[in-house]
Amino acid sequence: MKIVLLGPPGAGKGTQAKSICNRLSIPHISTGDIFRKHISENTSLGIEAKKSIDKGQLVSDELTIRIVLERLKNEDCKSGFLLDGFPRTVVQANALDSFLETEGQKLDTTLLIDVPKDFIIERMSGRRVCLTCGASYHIKFNPPIFEGKCDICGSDIIQRKDDEEKTVRERLDIYNQQTEPLIKYYRDKGILAVIDGTQAINDVFKNICKVLGRDN
Ligand code: ADP
Ligand code: AMP
Repeated sequence: MKIVLLGPPGAGKGTQAKSICNRLSIPHISTGDIFRKHISENTSLGIEAKKSIDKGQLVSDELTIRIVLERLKNEDCKSGFLLDGFPRTVVQANALDSFLETEGQKLDTTLLIDVPKDFIIERMSGRRVCLTCGASYHIKFNPPIFEGKCDICGSDIIQRKDDEEKTVRERLDIYNQQTEPLIKYYRDKGILAVIDGTQAINDVFKNICKVLGRDN
């Protein structure tokens, strides 16, 4: 299946992406994770992306589209993939559609994880992430088994610099202006499914599986 995960920052996209990709055996492509990996390795792409990320702004469409289309050309994406955090603008959505069209493919579904703004600040201020494998935790809602360590790979988990309240507010504004129009974009194409993201992590996952027809 070819899936796009849509939703405001902190909605739970990364958290659900890991479970969905395990269930469907498809690669998880998170643009945020790709940028963070480049930043931690100090590549020129990482240095460029960091300027926007630290301010809570979007990385340029040109750079973002380039890294995603390169990734989608990999053999492991031929039978499906899940995009998490991409597209975030209409320009990116059009680029994705054009790319898939040239490959004779199309998206199966877009899952919108719907969470009201008042949940977001609490979720993001308690978020901790693993920079090695991309796993996401929450100090209250989804704590790791051993404090400060990733359950999956054992690396240290950290608080993201762009999860400070001021930056989160900037990211939410940008989501409203640039990403929310994608809800209509995908609804008009008839491939939008809305998931209530306010429930507990396992319940959100159960609902997603139902929508995907994989709740066996
Ligand atoms: P996104 O990838 O959409 O930015 P994350 O998956 O990183 O969001 O989730 C943001 C934070 O909220 C994390 O700390 C995560 O553990 C927590 N979280 C995710 N889903 C839920 C949920 N359904 N209920 C409570 N907390 C959640
Ligand atoms: P995320 O991990 O999805 O919250 O992304 C972290 C940050 O990376 C965002 O706030 C943006 O600065 C940048 N980013 C991630 N995905 C995109 C995208 N599709 N377009 C532009 N910038 C992005």
